[in-house]
Amino acid sequence: MLQKVTLFFFILGLGMTAFSQNNYMDAKAEEIEKTYTGGESYSVKAFPREFKSKKPKNIIFLIGDGMGTAQIFAGLTANHGHLFLENCKQVGFSKTQSADNYITDSAAGGTALSCGIKTYNGAIGVDVNKNPVKTILEDAEAINLATGLVSTSSITHATPASFIAHQPSRNMYEEIAADFLKTDIDVFIGGGYKHFTQRKDGRNLVNELKQKGYTVEQDINKIKNVKSGKLVGLTAEEHNGRVAERGNMLPVAAETAINILSQNKKGFFLMVEGSQIDWGGHAGSTVYVVEDMLDFDKTIGIALEFAAKDGKTLVVITADHETGGMALTGGNMDSGIVKADFPLGDHTAVMVPVFAYGPGAEQFTGIMENTDIHKKMKQLLLND
Ligand SMILES: [Zn+2]
Repeated sequence: MLQKVTLFFFILGLGMTAFSQNNYMDAKAEEIEKTYTGGESYSVKAFPREFKSKKPKNIIFLIGDGMGTAQIFAGLTANHGHLFLENCKQVGFSKTQSADNYITDSAAGGTALSCGIKTYNGAIGVDVNKNPVKTILEDAEAINLATGLVSTSSITHATPASFIAHQPSRNMYEEIAADFLKTDIDVFIGGGYKHFTQRKDGRNLVNELKQKGYTVEQDINKIKNVKSGKLVGLTAEEHNGRVAERGNMLPVAAETAINILSQNKKGFFLMVEGSQIDWGGHAGSTVYVVEDMLDFDKTIGIALEFAAKDGKTLVVITADHETGGMALTGGNMDSGIVKADFPLGDHTAVMVPVFAYGPGAEQFTGIMENTDIHKKMKQLLLND
């Protein structure tokens, strides 16, 4: 017995040595990404909070994938103490658990927000029995509102997909792409060109979209010049790159979508996702999180600016879950330096914040289920 125990600890010791050596080498490589050393900051406007109606005509729903309070505060610190997000005075918390897991993935998290149901991890717009459930985007279409989706990931990725597709698995990118053709969505902009063109079934969905009357563009500089009609922007073969590569693709795409959708006299529903805050958390990179958090906040600024001018637009901002268990270990509001640790590198179970601005914003306070966010938005948008 004693020998067995000794042997066990000997093997454990060997394992620990190997682990800590690996960790040491990784730590050296990762150290650079763990500290955001400051960068360009932007000024943040304060928007008035006087609205023209009690009930919103339009909803702009912004999802920061993996965006918990630490990710937000990292961005706020990097931008020297301010974010556009602070214009939202109504703040709540969302419980993100899925039907089959204490820790959700982006598919079940997205489906909770899009359909108002708890489902299993991996599900896209379907319930626990894999039956399709109508999304808020489809509900909006049914009453002739204009609709749109914008994302920095592939547009077929879990979060945007859950607003328009109905598939048992998030990995069914080609099936998800085909689901876009079954709808009357007016504008969608993101990556994922190859899921529309290089397909096992031989269909060329870009040609089919053109036949349906869409303008299809791949360059954000061409996309932003489209002022009306139906628009598809597929800016990458798969996912868009990091901010250094994709530039201001997200805020430009969101502004383009808002300009087109707001021409509909009945109103519109638009979902915009900052996808890669999550990827920064998975990568354990403070730099990645901050860059994408600031890019997302600038996009929030575009939405708020429109809502402030329009007076009949509700802006709701939340996350599907937190990623990384991000812990801020240091920072400086003057220099914009942020240091953080990511003990997990995966999604966590904690509540995520909910922010709202515009008519109906007062409903998004307190602690709620993620599915309640859907119910409140649907109630406000669809019920006269
Ligand atoms: Zn994730």
